[in-house]
Amino acid sequence: MNNSKIAVVGSSNTDMIIKLDKIPVPGETVLGGEFSIAAGGKGANQAVAAARAGGDVTFIAAVGNDSLGTEAVEGFRRDGINVDWITKVENVASGVALIFVDRHGENSIAVASGANAVLSPENILDSKQVISQAQILLMQLETPIETVTRAAQLAHEAGVRVILNPAPAQSLDDGLLKMISILTPNETEAELLTNIKVEDEAGARNAAEVLLGKGIDSVLITLGARGVFLATRDTRELIPGFKVDAVDTTAAGDVFNGALAVALAENKSFDEAIRFANAAAALSVTKLGAQPSAHPRKDIVSFLNER
Ligand code: ADP
Repeated sequence: MNNSKIAVVGSSNTDMIIKLDKIPVPGETVLGGEFSIAAGGKGANQAVAAARAGGDVTFIAAVGNDSLGTEAVEGFRRDGINVDWITKVENVASGVALIFVDRHGENSIAVASGANAVLSPENILDSKQVISQAQILLMQLETPIETVTRAAQLAHEAGVRVILNPAPAQSLDDGLLKMISILTPNETEAELLTNIKVEDEAGARNAAEVLLGKGIDSVLITLGARGVFLATRDTRELIPGFKVDAVDTTAAGDVFNGALAVALAENKSFDEAIRFANAAAALSVTKLGAQPSAHPRKDIVSFLNER
């Protein structure tokens, strides 16, 4: 599928998870936990989801020159992702998230961004050709904002559509928002960006109006199991999600964004692309974990054919 070139700029982390009875408070040691390790980081999750959904993905990122970084890159390679633009940074650790999950499913997370925090505008400039030859540039907010902004500028100048998933939630200046073709906040992020409560379709509609007013071409507010509120110059509509038995909604947004990028790079209409991304994300919530829950394209297609 050589017409679906996608450049992803973003974070790569290793998630180290301990499931235990209760999350320790300062000074406390809690024994009896169960440890697991998983590849994570929003950028990496979205790159992997896009590759499995059928995209030709180049991941622009930074890892440390350490074993966690090497393993992460190996994983991307296994998914068929172009890793030529992943910088190995000396003397900085690869990104790590330490996650405690208690018996109620509540979590407590500490992130050491490490190499993600030094992915620089210069790194982006080095990969200018990759960005300008892509159909879509896909980004999130776990790398420095100057880096995200530089990449958006390069794409904008080259006429490449930019999808920004504004997660984790943070306020953004209008100069950056103007260069975004497609913004994909969830309810919390839409609320933070607009100061409008987004609890239902009416709230999503109002928040989307404010965001369109900032010069963004299309706004897709993801509403969990309810689906997506789509606002473009021509339409305002709720595109419902798919009913599934949810097991773990971790990374639903990441899988949604990865699959959306693929469908839009293939020139599908918004309605079709959102249906495809809703299907990929619905499938992902039926499986535990972040990257392990991103399904291959054939599963997404057969899920859609069964509806
Ligand atoms: P985030 O994970 O970023 O908070 P959302 O919770 O809005 O984002 O989920 C993103 C997308 O994932 C939704 O628009 C929907 O397509 C899908 N999704 C999330 N939760 C469910 C669910 N319980 N059942 C079906 N689809 C879901």
